[in-house]
Amino acid sequence: DIAFINGRFVPWEDATVPIEDRGFQFGDGVYEVIRTYRGMPFELDAHLRRLDRSAAELQLPSPYRHADWRAWIDAGIEQAGYPEAKIYLQITRGVAPRDHAFPADARPTTVMTIRELHPLPDDTRSRGVKAKTVEDLRWGRCDIKSVNLLPNVLARQDAKRAGVFEAILVKDGWVTEGSVSNVLAVRQGRIVTAPEGPRILSGVTRHVVLELARKEAFPIEERYLSLPDLYAADEVFLTGTTVEVLGVIDIDGRQIGAGVPGAITTRLAAQWAAMTA
Ligand code: PMP
Repeated sequence: DIAFINGRFVPWEDATVPIEDRGFQFGDGVYEVIRTYRGMPFELDAHLRRLDRSAAELQLPSPYRHADWRAWIDAGIEQAGYPEAKIYLQITRGVAPRDHAFPADARPTTVMTIRELHPLPDDTRSRGVKAKTVEDLRWGRCDIKSVNLLPNVLARQDAKRAGVFEAILVKDGWVTEGSVSNVLAVRQGRIVTAPEGPRILSGVTRHVVLELARKEAFPIEERYLSLPDLYAADEVFLTGTTVEVLGVIDIDGRQIGAGVPGAITTRLAAQWAAMTA
């Protein structure tokens, strides 16, 4: 496994951050997760743009240029030598004596890890997964990919305890997204998904999948789904860097559609597989 701190690759055992790092103490930082296909980072520019945006929204100076990141990521992938890898980038506001307000002179802490990616088994993909709904307890800026993931952590644990794959977050009766994914549904031939905005993370995968859907001439409605509409959907699927396009066949013990990934989900998953092959 590859570790990188503040511009340098370091041995994994030495890859530590001081206890007064604001990422550790306040969750004062942002991150990205990127995966490779055939050894190449997928949609790297989109992820780096989102990292810059998340940092800017927190008034966090982004310490490196995209060209620097690209060079380090390429070097790290090569060094790691995994068939497929997941690349984790994190920037925090740095190390300073504990005080909520920004420190005057801290330098951001920048961390990268590269680890092996274990793809979801094919039969999980073909069968689809179960999900449960969980109240969306997150703050009002879910568009910022911050390291404050406590509500996502609790929701995901709730799903795990229930023996299902994903927690679908519901805010005031409206579906926002998953704990680690975006949620899309198909109703009357139309793909429905929550609009971009402060209630969801603008998923890179969501964006690419909506482009694929437009090419296929599937109508798209960016609006919030109510919980009853989610249960009554013909198809539900998740998108995300690690889940790709993944059919949901059961939510809260209610069967979705025919209980197998639907036609539009299957078509988009096939297009995704073709694009990344
Ligand atoms: N929403 C949340 C809350 C997530 O953590 C993720 C995974 N990063 C996504 C959506 C999907 O985003 P992406 O397609 O960019 O991985």
